[in-house]
Amino acid sequence: HPDERVPPIDTTAVWRAQHAPNRTPERQRILVTGGAGFIGSNLVDHLMELGHEVIVLDSLFTGTKENIAHWIGHPRFDFIRHDVTERIMLEVDQIYHLACPASPLHYKYNAIKTIKTNVLGTLNMLGIAKRTGARLLLASTSEVYGDPLVHPQPESYWGNVNPIGVRSCYDEGKRVAETLCFDYYRQHHVDIRVARIFNTYGPRMVENDGRVVSNFVGQALRGEELTIFGDGSQTRSFCFVSDLVDALIRLMNTEGITGPVNLGNPTEFTVRELAELVRRKLPKSGPIRYLPPTPDDPGRRQPDIHLARTVLDWAPRVPLEEGLDAMIADFQRRGIGSRPVA
Ligand code: NAD
Ligand code: UDP
Repeated sequence: HPDERVPPIDTTAVWRAQHAPNRTPERQRILVTGGAGFIGSNLVDHLMELGHEVIVLDSLFTGTKENIAHWIGHPRFDFIRHDVTERIMLEVDQIYHLACPASPLHYKYNAIKTIKTNVLGTLNMLGIAKRTGARLLLASTSEVYGDPLVHPQPESYWGNVNPIGVRSCYDEGKRVAETLCFDYYRQHHVDIRVARIFNTYGPRMVENDGRVVSNFVGQALRGEELTIFGDGSQTRSFCFVSDLVDALIRLMNTEGITGPVNLGNPTEFTVRELAELVRRKLPKSGPIRYLPPTPDDPGRRQPDIHLARTVLDWAPRVPLEEGLDAMIADFQRRGIGSRPVA
């Protein structure tokens, strides 16, 4: 075949030659998968403000163009509508791999697709990292600890996860994604960072995505009852999104650490306490309504962030009271509570 005589073009080598002179720690070319979602778009804002080149790769399954609309047309910004389960050739310096539905409502909607996103999507992104030498940060989750038997959860805890339950597509999917990162690190020396993110909230959450903070704030603004699954004694520790974005960027740019590193706010609340706090802030809210518990719902969750404090010199700064005010203001700006649910 005549094509066999033509050596294939090594796009990575071409890219390295073209871009090497422009690459500085201050101006990296950064891929953010899931960059049109809640955490991803907040991260993109920060990376753009720091002066980097940013490529967002997103299927828009749960994310929206509105979240990144303010960057469209900017010379340092690109958006590619693409599903991470499909292969793609890109040349970048860093990859923040966030693409995956995060709300239980969304990830249970098509469980097999969630697994594929975690496994095939992470494989594809690790493939790019291996080929280009890019550093890859995986957005893993506290859900890898399952319904934890150790409290608070340190990174050394291996977890208590049901492999065949309704949450397994997400929990086990992320566990495999972590495994893949470490196998690429050991076998191919890919430069990895694994962040175990605990419950995060803030502006740009979807009002009816089923997550507890967005649900309660949306319900309260609409004057509806606040729905608690179970008796509300289960606990979570809520991190404001700007604190999390700060931690992700620090982790990505810290040398000599793979993780996993817990990232979250260690102040623990029961779901009932959260509901009462939201009701105090939004007195128009309806009363609390108790519904049956959801299957495999973890009873307690609180990060041990000793490692993040030590190696990243990071600790969350925004208390729940303050973060909730910012989130309520964002929901009100978007007209939530003053128009029918989308
Ligand atoms: P999100 O649903 O708002 O964002 C996920 C983004 O990924 C969306 O824009 C969605 O369209 C995109 N996406 C989903 N499947 C895709 C696919 N196959 N191909 C391309 N894009 C796809 O969720 P989020 O809260 O911003 O979460 C971002 C990441 O952080 C996720 O990986 C999640 O597992 C992780 N995380 C989030 C939390 C949290 O509390 N928000 C906690 C732990 C971990
Ligand atoms: N939850 C609740 N009411 C809601 C939504 C969630 O009581 O309207 C509970 C849910 O059962 C869980 C906790 O709040 O115990 C956190 O749920 P979320 O879906 O936000 O996150 P995750 O379970 O992944 O931590």
